[in-house]
Amino acid sequence: MSPSEKPSYRAWFQSFAHPEERYRLDEIVYTDREGGLLEVVHDLDELRKTSAEGWKKLFDGRRHHNEWPYGSGVWGLKEWVLPEISNNNVVSMYEGHSNLFWAERYGRQVGVEDLWIKLCGNSHTGSFKDLGMTVLISMVSEMRARGVDVPAVACASTGDTSAALAAYAAAAGIPSIVFLPRGKISLAQLIQPVANGSIVFALDTDFDGCMEIVKQVAENDGIYLANSMNSLRIEGQKTVGIEIAQQFDWEVPDWLIIPGGNLGNVSALAKGLDLLFDLGLIQRRPRLCVAQAEAANPLYLSYQRDFRVMEPIVARPTFASAIQIGNPVSAAKAIDALKRYDGVVEQASEVEIAEACAAADRTGLFNCPHTGVALVALDKLVANGTIRKSDRVVVISTAHGLKFTDFKIRYHEGKLPDVPATRANSPIELGAKYDLVRDRMLREIESRSR
Ligand SMILES: *Cc1c(COP(=O)(O)O)cnc(C)c1O
Repeated sequence: MSPSEKPSYRAWFQSFAHPEERYRLDEIVYTDREGGLLEVVHDLDELRKTSAEGWKKLFDGRRHHNEWPYGSGVWGLKEWVLPEISNNNVVSMYEGHSNLFWAERYGRQVGVEDLWIKLCGNSHTGSFKDLGMTVLISMVSEMRARGVDVPAVACASTGDTSAALAAYAAAAGIPSIVFLPRGKISLAQLIQPVANGSIVFALDTDFDGCMEIVKQVAENDGIYLANSMNSLRIEGQKTVGIEIAQQFDWEVPDWLIIPGGNLGNVSALAKGLDLLFDLGLIQRRPRLCVAQAEAANPLYLSYQRDFRVMEPIVARPTFASAIQIGNPVSAAKAIDALKRYDGVVEQASEVEIAEACAAADRTGLFNCPHTGVALVALDKLVANGTIRKSDRVVVISTAHGLKFTDFKIRYHEGKLPDVPATRANSPIELGAKYDLVRDRMLREIESRSR
């Protein structure tokens, strides 16, 4: 019998602050009795019945097979993610297994010899949000199959959660509703839920304002909440750290740098690493860095005060629009993770974000601004000696650059306010004359090889 058929793997919702408070995963519940966060907890005693070597062999084997749904990077870890649902109710687009880009040239420029970029944006809807949404929508399908009344699923979003929700809900045939801050997301992000047939609201507020509305429709109107305060999402997103370890033949790097807004993703990253550690697949803990935009930096400010206080702020506009969040839902989990993983928090200004993206793009990447925030943090940690030259570093790239073409075009046209755009590279417009073209071409080759 293969482990996936063993009936004994179990998981449940548990209050983050009060472990004795538990709920079944098919219950419609997002917070504990005091309004605090829940987390999905697995029965570790059952999981420990398989050895570390046994798990590695099972997961490695599934990478090369295609039995539904184990070919997905998330569902290939089903026993660690959502063990009790029927494979027939899994809604997957074979998310995960994203490339770990060896950033050899960029690493040399910033002074680290062993730099890798985990390209989570190489995914169905172009961001890591797919990893969590496959789990949430699969659970909703399972609940509907078990007779639970879930008329529709909704989220507030800075653009990527809504794209993922819309796609997975459409694939499952479940109605979806998204609340977006009007004028604050990219055109690509807006068109995704529109095309997938979501009920799309563009509200005159920011993300935090949209969040207030979606909480009310969840509470008053029986709509299922798909934001990351729903800890099912974290179960899918936690696979990123596990996948990185697997890509290094079950070794963890020295450092993981991740951009953070609502702080669900860093919590998820740590949760996946915890499981690797608890089940003996890895023997040491990497260090973590959360990178924030200076315009939306409540965690950075809290870090400056040794996490003694965590105060919400009003987030200002930033190129990294998906992390323009002033009141992060998962702050408590993120702070807990940073303490356990000897973590640090860095911040990036708008100019730094734009120039870091452009510099890294010149080495073959195509970065979204959030990835830029993480690249700035890398630069700063190398400069102040926290990251050593010989450290192995992984930067989590959270979205595909193609979602943010407007930001990139404006950079290369020199139109981003206050950004010197030192690497602007506009198309050369010329008449179609060979001599003209050749002269200009030779001059450009000459100047760029210097
Ligand atoms: C959602 C998102 C983030 C932030 O993740 P949190 O869990 O909110 O911290 C970063 N980058 C991109 C591209 C995102 O879509």
